Amino acid sequence: MIQKIKGTMDILPEETVLFRQLERVMREEAERYGFGEIRTPTIEWTDLFVRGVGDTTDVVQKEMYSFPDRDESRSISLRPEGTASVVRALIENGKCNDTMPQKYYYLINCFRHEKPQAGRSREFFQFGAEMFGAATPVADGTVIALAAAVLRRLGLRQVSLHINSIGCRHCRPAYRAALVEHFSRHADQLCDTCRTRLERNPLRLLDCKNPSCAALAATAPRTVDFLCPDCAAHFGSLRSVLDRMEIPHTVDPGIVRGLDYYTRTVFEFVAEGIGAQSTVCGGGRYDGLVGSLGGPDLPGIGFGMGITRVILALRAEGILPPPQPAPRLYIAALGASAAEGAAGIVERLRRVGVYAECDLVGRSLKAQMKYADKLGAAYTLILGDAELSCGRAQLRNMKTGAQSEVTLADFTLPEESGDSSGETA
Ligand code: ATP
Ligand code: MG
Repeated sequence: MIQKIKGTMDILPEETVLFRQLERVMREEAERYGFGEIRTPTIEWTDLFVRGVGDTTDVVQKEMYSFPDRDESRSISLRPEGTASVVRALIENGKCNDTMPQKYYYLINCFRHEKPQAGRSREFFQFGAEMFGAATPVADGTVIALAAAVLRRLGLRQVSLHINSIGCRHCRPAYRAALVEHFSRHADQLCDTCRTRLERNPLRLLDCKNPSCAALAATAPRTVDFLCPDCAAHFGSLRSVLDRMEIPHTVDPGIVRGLDYYTRTVFEFVAEGIGAQSTVCGGGRYDGLVGSLGGPDLPGIGFGMGITRVILALRAEGILPPPQPAPRLYIAALGASAAEGAAGIVERLRRVGVYAECDLVGRSLKAQMKYADKLGAAYTLILGDAELSCGRAQLRNMKTGAQSEVTLADFTLPEESGDSSGETA
């Protein structure tokens, strides 16, 4: 038997109800914040990610699924993230010249050849949002507020927001020098990868997971101590905006994004109790990215939220998935002509938008009733020859046991009463 590729997943109906609930909340919140949905291709030219994600990143160096196009002319990659494609689409579709800000969100699958483990897979799903052409602290606060709104509305309580500022091209050189100095003094304690990073991209050393690198990172100089006056003012204002928005946050000097075009604000939402892969959402400002992908000098800020990690966090907090949809009515039929009659009534109800079911596999009456119970049908109706010939039958409310007589030709079901699922408003 051929099995699925390592690090990929099958999502069955029991689980897709949860995925769809999350996606619905994400879409609704994004639209409340004025973001429009964008859909970009699953495949892009590899160059886009080399430039857009950065050739010093693990993602580009070792995690991309890349292959030559069929005519061997040029390399294509499965998208490892969403931002680069959105920036490309923004430029390619002339949106850089449109009214600012431009706000987009997406629900996508991404592909990275990583070591599969809890919270880390090779195909994973992301909710992301990007805002272009707005450089104010209020813009940063708005993007962060959208991510917070989604997590809050899903009912998550044990998720905390960590923010940091990594400065701009004016404050970066001094910080970079201080970092290189700090790590060079302890170069013997660095892992091999970090020793090479020291030259090319010292900021990446700050998020190495290797214990001895992490220990050195803990005592490293902090970006917040190197901010230029403008960056310091921006960060201070962002904190006030978050306070005004009543979004709790802590400053965490350990959060960095190791790419040159990342500027100022970086943030992560971290969930307790889901293991090592606890970042459910990561984002930041990238004022140099649009320019470096061939567009004008437009500021940008965005985030990516891992949907499967959000699901792990929901489980850890005991928040239950919504139930699978249950039929409003199950028609149990006795005999072949009753089965045909049942099929007709069920089809009539479905055409007016009601989820109804009848027997499809030739079960006995008793087994049909048991099955109706298993499906959680709100009402049942037993149809035999007698009912068919007089055109009436007993409709039974499965919750209360109450019965009422209905005319088969035109009966309707009582409106569904407001049974609530976990998620509100
Ligand atoms: P991490 O440090 O957790 O590997 P990252 O910095 O590589 O994250 P981003 O590129 O910022 O992640 O992606 C945004 C979010 O997407 C992450 O915060 C996480 O929730 C999710 N994510 C990233 N990689 C994976 C993966 N391999 N499997 C599942 N979710 C992922
Ligand atoms: Mg990663």
